[in-house]
Amino acid sequence: MTPDVVIIGGGLAGLSCANTLTQQGITNNILEADDEVGGRARTDRLDGFLLDRGFQVFSTAYPEAKRILKYDALKLHTFYPGALVRFDGQFHRIADPYRHPLHALQSVLNPIGTMKDKVRVATWRHQVLKDPLQELPSRPETSTIDHLQSMGFSQSIINRFFRPFLGGVFMDQELTTSSRMADFVFRMFASGDSALPEEGMGALAQQLAHNLQSEQIQLRKKVVKIQGTTVTLESGETLPARRVVIATERSAATQLAPEVPPHLFRGTTCLYFHAPEPPLNGPHLILNGETGGVINSLYLPTEVTRSYAPPGQHLISITTNETSLSDKMTIKEAVQKNLIEWFGTQVHTWQHIKTYFIQSAQSVQTPPFYPGTIASSKIRDGLYICGDHRSTATIDGAIGSGRRTAEEIASEIMN
Ligand SMILES: Cc1cc2nc3c(=O)[nH]c(=O)nc-3n(C[C@H](O)[C@H](O)[C@H](O)COP(=O)(O)OP(=O)(O)OC[C@H]3O[C@@H](n4cnc5c(N)ncnc54)[C@H](O)[C@@H]3O)c2cc1C
Repeated sequence: MTPDVVIIGGGLAGLSCANTLTQQGITNNILEADDEVGGRARTDRLDGFLLDRGFQVFSTAYPEAKRILKYDALKLHTFYPGALVRFDGQFHRIADPYRHPLHALQSVLNPIGTMKDKVRVATWRHQVLKDPLQELPSRPETSTIDHLQSMGFSQSIINRFFRPFLGGVFMDQELTTSSRMADFVFRMFASGDSALPEEGMGALAQQLAHNLQSEQIQLRKKVVKIQGTTVTLESGETLPARRVVIATERSAATQLAPEVPPHLFRGTTCLYFHAPEPPLNGPHLILNGETGGVINSLYLPTEVTRSYAPPGQHLISITTNETSLSDKMTIKEAVQKNLIEWFGTQVHTWQHIKTYFIQSAQSVQTPPFYPGTIASSKIRDGLYICGDHRSTATIDGAIGSGRRTAEEIASEIMN
């Protein structure tokens, strides 16, 4: 039977679109090129370890995720609200004063920022929380670095905390990303917990997939051409539909529909090691506040939830903004050298598990940037688009974009 809608791509956007269409009684199928759904938010299982494909955190404040995901079933485990910053040979705590006032008080005199910086953090928090979220995209816009400087933050807190923190989130060490994105991210961190699902980030997509009939999702079906509303698979098979949604990453969308202009991407590299003992205890995000070293951030998934490793093992996830593919060994060796500087000779007992080189992790979000405000998802008659590149380059952006595209189609069909 010809479905009302064929969705190309089973990432979070495609799955969210399929969920919303199904709720509205609109028949749909997902064609996914890979062997599993989830796209960029997948988790691999390797010898009892859960390896997210790159360091990702889920914010419990994500508004679109709240609408569609069942948090209880995800069994979310939370990070410490704050971070440890490596600076001058030591780890210094940055605490959220609203959730850990005592820790915040203790950290007042650390060298990560000045007293005034700590007051400015509170002011920024108030500014991002006071207006409805929908108004954030219409705020005056600049780059993140200019935004931080114009709020009066000192160079020390910018370089030691915001650069590794926001530079890691945006994969953009120069902080050229839109201030609207910085406000969005800061609001999410201020109003929710950062968490990992017990079964890894891939559990988000798995939950959305389980809401659908199994025959709705067809894996290993790469679409190579769209003609009218008929799609052609790599195998040569053609599948007709009444409408088609492109829910792929932006580069694949450009190949399938020339109307979609190309977009630049940012990359990142994530390395996993296992260790017999944790180098630090606690569910902390650890940031590199020093000028040297290739590590941007580090955390122990097993300190957030034990489910990420077999009993007796500890998993360490390291993120670096180095992405050079031609020099894989150099990145691993450089990371190991940096780890020894931080943790000493115990690093020699750690075993490297896997390195993920992710060339196209996030679309560039420099100004002008209007997250979630792009009016129509219709490219031409019968052809629509969704994906994180249409919103914030986040889990929430992908889920919201999928929902909006489905609602646009539903309203066309109903009227
Ligand atoms: C390393 C990394 C870290 C991140 N960190 C965070 C974080 O901490 N917090 C956060 O909120 N977000 C984070 N993100 C962003 C978030 O993961 C993405 O925004 C989101 O997963 C994108 O979903 P999507 O459905 O738009 O695209 P994708 O996940 O890219 O899905 C597209 C799907 O289309 C499929 N496809 C492509 N071409 C074809 C074709 N021709 N035929 C059929 N199928 C096709 C692909 O296989 C894929 O499954 C991170 C991303 C990465 C990579």
